Amino acid sequence: MESELESMRQYFNGGNTRDASWRESQLKGLLLFMREKEAEIFKALKEDLGKHPVEAFRDEVGTLIKSINFALKGLKNWMSSEKVKLPKIAILSSAELVPQPLGLVLIISSWNFPFGLSLEPLIGAIAAGNTVVLKPSELAPACSSLLADVMSTYLDTKAIKVIQGGPSVGEQLLQQKWDKIFFTGSSRVGRTVMSAAAKHLTPVVLELGGKCPAVVDSLSSSWDKQVAVNRIIVSKFGNCTGQACIAVDYILVEKRFASALVELMKDSIKKMFGDNPRESNTIGRIVNKHHFLRLQNLLSDLAVQKSIVYGGSMDEENLFIEPTVLLDPPLEADIMTEEIFGPLLPIITLEKVEDSIQFINSKPKALAIYAFTKNEPFKRRMVAETSSGSLVFNDAVIQYVADTLPFGGIGKSGIGRYHGKFSFDAFTHYKPVARRSFLSDFWFRFPPWNIHKLML
Ligand code: NAD
Repeated sequence: MESELESMRQYFNGGNTRDASWRESQLKGLLLFMREKEAEIFKALKEDLGKHPVEAFRDEVGTLIKSINFALKGLKNWMSSEKVKLPKIAILSSAELVPQPLGLVLIISSWNFPFGLSLEPLIGAIAAGNTVVLKPSELAPACSSLLADVMSTYLDTKAIKVIQGGPSVGEQLLQQKWDKIFFTGSSRVGRTVMSAAAKHLTPVVLELGGKCPAVVDSLSSSWDKQVAVNRIIVSKFGNCTGQACIAVDYILVEKRFASALVELMKDSIKKMFGDNPRESNTIGRIVNKHHFLRLQNLLSDLAVQKSIVYGGSMDEENLFIEPTVLLDPPLEADIMTEEIFGPLLPIITLEKVEDSIQFINSKPKALAIYAFTKNEPFKRRMVAETSSGSLVFNDAVIQYVADTLPFGGIGKSGIGRYHGKFSFDAFTHYKPVARRSFLSDFWFRFPPWNIHKLML
């Protein structure tokens, strides 16, 4: 590994990845891979996660094609230096910010969106002109081997390498010296990444998890209620079966609206996944037995079981868990203290919708907060008084596909941001370059601080 990384470093130092033409050719290679291998990508996602092709296109292929095109369109502009002003004291001068690649960077990604979470940061790293090692997750093996064996043939393998493997390969990689580490995964492994990075003072981006709340106000119009419920249900159960960092983790609602909300949710689940979701091909599977048992364990507490108002059935052999809704499980139960990352959706009731602000602020900072409301003063309070990676009113998950919004967490949900030009920035050093003329100077910048002495 060390000698391979050394060759990559030399390749970078040789300036091979700096030109716009190299960056463009690699982005076009990625685009061609997405277009030509679409069917294989769908097949791998079905095999690893039971994803429906429409969902696979919406969340991975389509989103990535959009992101690559966005980078290709912006590249020349992103690569240009930006002129900046210096203070008047530096007369006869000019200055600029010159975007420069960082060098050799490492991307470690998660399994739940095996292409998106690997290639979104890769797009930024390539656009910024770096050499890159990508380690996808071992838990989506069909997708990882497609990335390593097929995608690589579309790219310059002297500069971009995909290394497959699990935690031990990850640990080996973390022992090397990198110019940046971009990690997507759990807070637990995020800590390991950050302490390994500290050894070489390597900067990190950590895209981590957490519990994303959705506040549902007592909406008066039946249209608004239905729209809110549909958007929550699809974000939770249709999004890799809730195995998504920005899926709704739990709902906060006023007590008086809770039972109506449960009824609407039941109808919406049936409409989307049928009376027998196990037979539906529109709902994915839990990634593996370990995660299946983890989710089963979240429901093992008797008080939690009693709070189930819909669903709850499980099929270990097929790694299937029915969309499940719970009403007021105990707040100290694991299901309310750990990230759920699966198709279990607790609803917590409050007296007033405004109480949700205090509830949210008593928890670690979330990757996203969603609030379904038309109450403008409440919206203003949510913006001003809560802190999270992102905040979305009246929808969920859409912030992920916006190239114009930075994506990332805060506090326990992560460090740093990417998507669109923010991905380019994540892998770029904006070097300040100042230039001065020899022609003039001020006497007061030189000792011996004699006010009568005139320079030049
Ligand atoms: P994970 O932390 O177990 O694994 C993530 C990656 O790290 C994998 O590639 C894995 O092989 C590697 N890894 C595991 N142990 C390692 C070690 N000791 N040293 C080096 N590398 C190691 O997480 P996961 O199960 O893949 O993903 C689930 C978590 O990721 C959830 O918490 C979820 O919220 C979070 N997530 C966050 C985002 C985001 O964008 N913020 C996206 C997806 C998932």
